[in-house]
Amino acid sequence: MNAPAPLGLLAELTHRCPLACPYCSNPLKLEDRADELDTTGWADVFRQAVAMGVLQVHLSGGEPASRRDLIEITRAASDAGLYTNLITSAIGLDADRLGRLKTAGLDHVQVSIQDTDPTGSDRIAGYDGAHGRKLAFAEAVTGLGMALTINAVIHRANIDHLTTLVDLAASLGAGRVEIAHAQYYGWALRNRDALMPTRAQIDRAMQELDRLQARYAGRLAIDSVLPDYYARRPKPCMGGWGRRSLNITPSGLVLPCHAAQTIPGLAFWSVRDRSLADIWTHSPAFEAFRGTAWMKEPCRSCEFRELDFGGCRCQALAIAGDAAATDPSCDLSPLHGRIQALAQQAAAEQATEYAYRGRPMRTGVAPIVS
Ligand code: SF4
Ligand code: SF4
Repeated sequence: MNAPAPLGLLAELTHRCPLACPYCSNPLKLEDRADELDTTGWADVFRQAVAMGVLQVHLSGGEPASRRDLIEITRAASDAGLYTNLITSAIGLDADRLGRLKTAGLDHVQVSIQDTDPTGSDRIAGYDGAHGRKLAFAEAVTGLGMALTINAVIHRANIDHLTTLVDLAASLGAGRVEIAHAQYYGWALRNRDALMPTRAQIDRAMQELDRLQARYAGRLAIDSVLPDYYARRPKPCMGGWGRRSLNITPSGLVLPCHAAQTIPGLAFWSVRDRSLADIWTHSPAFEAFRGTAWMKEPCRSCEFRELDFGGCRCQALAIAGDAAATDPSCDLSPLHGRIQALAQQAAAEQATEYAYRGRPMRTGVAPIVS
């Protein structure tokens, strides 16, 4: 089918990260530093993306600050004409490096905050002292007059702290706060029993968010995403597969979404071998679930199929064992009861130990990379 022009590009510059969040969206098998695209490779990708119609790039990771050439990469993205957004844990950045990123053309910064309680925040990040450094960096962002968004991934241990999280974002001068529940594939699926909130927590959180959105109306934008396991209808994941955005891994593989590698049998093409436009238009991985022709019932004949595109393919695989199935978070799916039961079971487990992304709890101070 004809592919629409993409608007956004998520550039995973590296899978290296000083933190080890147990809900990290990076794959279970992380890519090696030796395989990462170099500065020239990323600059070429950005020029190709702009030629295709892409407007903004999210410089992400892992921790993008782990790249010594982050400033050069940012300049290349800006010079290509992209709006540049840095998604960072803040570890590996300071006001000096931030100033140089701003000079290089950085437009916007998103800083992840794990919790408002420093101990809980450092525990989920797997890094002592991370919380204080995040706050100092966020203040540096607004101190330089740059636009700031605070990201908070929500789970059982911090969902009762929404008010203090939003208040903290406001006090840091953020213009937006994104409250996103953990998405259960990859690392988060492995940690589901330790992360899943209870139904009662979700209900309280939704009421709290309504109050917060009313209180901060006109001052702070509060975006929130309900956890799929407790939803009635699925989200239009990625705005539709291969429809609006693409994701490039550190080594140059082009994915329709960051979790697409969890789906067996999909072949991902690389920017090392083919043009980005060729991959976007013809790659079997993008073609597999683009549009609606691949859908089975009940999606195939559903009035919402052009609105939510059947939900998340990775979640369909994780729960139904079939990436072409209706996302079980939809109450029209025959497996909707299963996902609700899984949520109840996971929440009832009350597990407290995390499987950290690739390593045990670590202490010490990460260097600033310059
Ligand atoms: S989610 Fe945590 S571990 Fe994963 S890249 Fe972000 S800061 Fe690093
Ligand atoms: S049946 Fe499919 S298209 Fe219809 S609402 Fe559910 S997920 Fe969306």
